[in-house]
Amino acid sequence: MADHPEGAILQRDGETYSVMARSPAGLVTPELLVKIAAIARKFHVPMVKITSGQRIALIGIKKEDLASVFDELGTDAVRKTGPCIRFVQSCPGIRNCRNGMQDSLGLAIEMEARYRERPFPGKIKIGISGCQRCCGESHTRDIGIMGSKNGWTVFFGGNNGTRPRFGDVIAKNLSTDEVQDLVSRLLEYYRLNAQPKERSARFMERITMERLNSDLLTKIPYIPLEP
Ligand code: SF4
Repeated sequence: MADHPEGAILQRDGETYSVMARSPAGLVTPELLVKIAAIARKFHVPMVKITSGQRIALIGIKKEDLASVFDELGTDAVRKTGPCIRFVQSCPGIRNCRNGMQDSLGLAIEMEARYRERPFPGKIKIGISGCQRCCGESHTRDIGIMGSKNGWTVFFGGNNGTRPRFGDVIAKNLSTDEVQDLVSRLLEYYRLNAQPKERSARFMERITMERLNSDLLTKIPYIPLEP
């Protein structure tokens, strides 16, 4: 068992830690920013960085300060670092972007609240984009969701890293309710069938799209059967 609070990540120097602040879909409030600034000043945190997952990392915290940093962050602290839903990132989507076709921010906020830190065999990162320009990195996240004028496209099995992979297209032209249902079914299938620490990209390479089709997708009423 680790000798530091869950959620703290040991840094390369082997002495200090980083702690992540929650910012669902990359959204922050003035109150959260003020809180983070106060913590960074009080505990002499040498670096505050926005991560690729649209979260805010306080980096270089001394071990003896960890408990106090977690206390002061309260429910804004990310508490899990093991295999679980890591984050839901999103572009601004139709609420702000002139290219937006769908409400990526709204869907991301719902998904973050629904799946926050839920455990799975491997890390799950979710990327949601309001149009096909894919600023939410939907092609290379475990679950990718991309808006178009006809609805949402869902991808599964995407990854960056040392063996990058584009996610497989699972379904197109879905309503928001259908996306929620499909993501829940995909995650449950992955939970039941993946090996420990097997990321969705390697999982899809192992089980193949054919098997996912016959086990799951052909039984979902709103996904048309291949002609
Ligand atoms: S993906 Fe589309 S909607 Fe989202 S920020 Fe990029 S251009 Fe705008």
